[in-house]
Amino acid sequence: MHLELFEILRCPYCGGPLELVESLFHRRSGDEISDGILGCHCCIFPVVDGIPVLHLQPNATAARDQMQAEHPEQALRTMVGLESEAEARAFEAVAASEASTYRQTVEALGPNFEGGYFLYRFSDPTYVVAEAVVRAVARAVLGDRRRAIDICGGSGHLTRSLLDLSSSPPVLADLYFAKIWLARRFTAPGCVPVCCDGNAPMPFARGAFAFAMCTDAFMYIWTKRQFVGEMARLIDDPSADPGAVLIGHTHNERTWSPSHGQPLSPEGYAALFETLPPRVFAESNLFADVVAGGPLDLSRQDSKETLDGDPAVTLVATGRHDVFVRHQLDANRPVSGEFRLNPLYEVEANGDSVRLRLRFPSEDYEEEYGACRQYLPDEAVVHRAALDTLPGGAVPAVLADLAKRRVILDLPKRYY
Ligand SMILES: [Zn+2]
Repeated sequence: MHLELFEILRCPYCGGPLELVESLFHRRSGDEISDGILGCHCCIFPVVDGIPVLHLQPNATAARDQMQAEHPEQALRTMVGLESEAEARAFEAVAASEASTYRQTVEALGPNFEGGYFLYRFSDPTYVVAEAVVRAVARAVLGDRRRAIDICGGSGHLTRSLLDLSSSPPVLADLYFAKIWLARRFTAPGCVPVCCDGNAPMPFARGAFAFAMCTDAFMYIWTKRQFVGEMARLIDDPSADPGAVLIGHTHNERTWSPSHGQPLSPEGYAALFETLPPRVFAESNLFADVVAGGPLDLSRQDSKETLDGDPAVTLVATGRHDVFVRHQLDANRPVSGEFRLNPLYEVEANGDSVRLRLRFPSEDYEEEYGACRQYLPDEAVVHRAALDTLPGGAVPAVLADLAKRRVILDLPKRYY
C-alpha cells in the first residue's frame, strides 16, 4: 500500500486514523508498505503483501500474529486461505511466475476457492448491465477530480470499468483477500485493494469518494441498513458537488433467483436510504437498453408491478439531477487490456476459416446466465487470418461486429 492511502483509511471500529507501527516488524520500500502492522486508537491490523486487512475475523488475527512474529509469507498463506503445504506451494509457484495467467492462478487457489465462473464474467448478463450503469453514473459524478470505490467487488471485474474514470485509482474493498489480490494483479491492475468486512463500518474517512458502488453482493449483506448508511457517509462531502451511491443486481424478495441470499422487496431496499433519495430500477429493463445498443434510460420510473416481477433491481441514490437522464453507451472506449476471443467459445479450424461455438461451462451456468444468448451467437465463422491478429490492441474491421456482440472482448492481459 502507498502511504497516501493513510489520508482516507480509518479504523472500522473507532474511526481513528491508522499509521504504520514502526516498532513492529515491517517492510517498506520508498512510499510503499508491503508488510507490517497498522495501529489506531483501539487495535492493530496487518498489511499483508501490500494489502491492509482491516477486520478481526480469525484469519485476520492469525495473519496479524504471524506478521508480528516476522513471518510475512505465513501471513500471506493464511489470508489467501491455503490449507495444506501442497496447496501453498502450488499457489506460490504460480504467483512467482510472471507468465502465470488469471485462470491458472484461480486454479492454483484450490477447490475451496469460489472462482469457477469468474473467467466468464466479462460477458455475463449481470456484468453487461452493471458495467453500463456503473460507467454512466460514475462518469456523471466523478468528473476528472474525484475517486470511486467498489465495495464487495470480488476479483475486480467491475473495478476495472472504473480505472479510466476515477481520478485517483479506484479502491476495491472485499472480505476475500485472494480475490482482491487477483484483482490487483490481473483484473484491475492499478486499483487499491483493501480487505474489510461489509457487515462492519467501512474503514474509510467521510467524503473520501464521490461514487460508492456494490453490485451482485448486497443481498448477502446482513447489516444492510448500516451498509447503506456507510455508503452515504463515504460520499458525504459538503464542500463538493453531490456524489452517488449505486447498488446493482440485488435480488428481489418477491421472485426466485439462483443464489438468492437474504433479499428485500424493492420498497424494503428503498427504505434503507435515509439521507439520499434513491431510485429503484428493474434490471431487465436496463438490460434491454444495453442489448439494444442504448441509450441507457435512467430517467425511467418503473412501476411497482414491474419492480415486483423482476428477479433483481438496481438502486441509484444521488442529489444530482444529471444522473437520472438517458445516457449514451460508450462508443470509443480506450482499450484497457487486449482484444481476445471470449473464453465461452470453442474454436474449430477448417482451412482458412474458423468456426466458433458457444459452449457453457455447466448447466448451472446456462440456467443462471443464459440471457447472454441475446447477444452471444451460438456459432460464428470467421477468417483464420483475422482471428490470428488476436490478442491485439485493436479489433480488425471484419471482427468489429463480433466485438460488438462480445464474442471478442477487451480482456485483462494474461487472463486465460
Ligand atoms: Zn480503532
